[in-house]
Amino acid sequence: MSDEKHPEERRCSVCGRTEKECGRLITVTDNLHICDECIEKSVNEVRSRPELQEFAKNMPHFSFLNLGDILGNAQTAPAKVPETPEVSYEMADVPTPHKIKEGLDRYVVGQDHAKKVLSVAVYNHYKRIIGAERIEKEEKELKKQKIPDPNRPKMVEIDKSNILMIGPTGSGKTYLVQTLARLLDVPLALTDATSLTEAGYIGDDIESVVSKLLANAGNNVKKAERGIIFIDEIDKLAKKKETNHRDVSGESVQQGLLRLLEGAEVEVPVGASSKNAMVPMRRVNTKNILFIVGGAFPGLEDIIRERLTRHSSIGFRADLKDRFDEDKDLILQVTTEDLRKFGMIPEFLGRLPIVCPLTALTEEMLMRILSEPQNAILRQYEALLAMDEVKLTFEEEALRSIASEAIRKDTGARALRSIIEAFMLDIMYEIPKDDSIGEVIITKEYVEKTGGPRILLRGHGG
Ligand code: ADP
Repeated sequence: MSDEKHPEERRCSVCGRTEKECGRLITVTDNLHICDECIEKSVNEVRSRPELQEFAKNMPHFSFLNLGDILGNAQTAPAKVPETPEVSYEMADVPTPHKIKEGLDRYVVGQDHAKKVLSVAVYNHYKRIIGAERIEKEEKELKKQKIPDPNRPKMVEIDKSNILMIGPTGSGKTYLVQTLARLLDVPLALTDATSLTEAGYIGDDIESVVSKLLANAGNNVKKAERGIIFIDEIDKLAKKKETNHRDVSGESVQQGLLRLLEGAEVEVPVGASSKNAMVPMRRVNTKNILFIVGGAFPGLEDIIRERLTRHSSIGFRADLKDRFDEDKDLILQVTTEDLRKFGMIPEFLGRLPIVCPLTALTEEMLMRILSEPQNAILRQYEALLAMDEVKLTFEEEALRSIASEAIRKDTGARALRSIIEAFMLDIMYEIPKDDSIGEVIITKEYVEKTGGPRILLRGHGG
């Protein structure tokens, strides 16, 4: 705490005792100090009186002094955070790539190439961790034996491979990562590159994402160190072409992220998002954390097209340009050179050796997303109405109409839920009123607001 020069002068502002008399004092402001006992008393008082809690909630400045933080801190000083148990992986714990892909297939429609790339990358990532653990163990054993064998074959260290996902908004980047983390049962932290700034500037500093991961791992450092961090909108960090002022959120954040991507020890607060003297800190090593960064990279396809056209022989240029213009999967041909041209710094790309492109969702894919996955939106509505003993069905043409409306909105599968919610509201409101209804069939006309749904009464319908 501050004010170390005159410790004998400091007194608790509530009970008036000196630091010597009451033990530790917590400094709230330069001349406001409170002893542990008074804090505890006041917290107990607030807890026992609901009207005070209400009052505290409505006071705009009350949150400046988070009593919970202080009390938690008074009970568990930084050094006393309980140690977390070891978590160790064996090869048998890591699903093979085809098993990972099978798991992803149950939830995510299409994106076969991306699923394959991810499955293999994740499998290798965990192999690398296990390999590194074996090397460490072996070295410890050898040290114990004290007779090093110079001819002993050395185990190969595998390089860390973080992943760069490229694909339009709503094509399933975040969803793939979320599903992956769930399948592997590892903690996941999601963040947006645009909210990150260099430490000291307004916004979350870069390390805050590690703090989030730690929280999602239940403050278990070992678990967090095997987790996944997903940073979205990474394309927004691309180098700006012309800028005079200091870039605190673009290229410099790319630079700041480098350290985390390759593996660094960072001190992060436990149970809070910001560092301050009250919050216990934990040391987290990012060496084994899998970083996946994603972005839509608008305009990247033009760069790819230009490269492909440039590299082809002159006579065929016009033909080729037409062919590339029509190629919907051009993104699958992306190279690091294209990404560099887009504005990503080379060192950053160097830490992201695995590039995982996703294609835009087609009308057919959107139709499948509506009904196929294990937790598909339509299945959820069907389950809701089944609780009222009403069967819900969607005509094929109704699905097509929803999908084509989503394509028009140009936000990928994100648009689906809002389109469906808009027309399902009336159904969900009206149906429970009438016991005689046995089945509701959603028609294309109903989706397009030119007609109504087909309603079948109990005992009359199929
Ligand atoms: P982004 O590519 O922008 O990260 P998201 O993964 O957040 O997109 O997609 C938004 C939502 O759309 C997801 O939560 C998921 O419900 C749905 N979705 C997107 N793509 C797919 C897909 N390929 N298969 C199934 N659902 C998808």
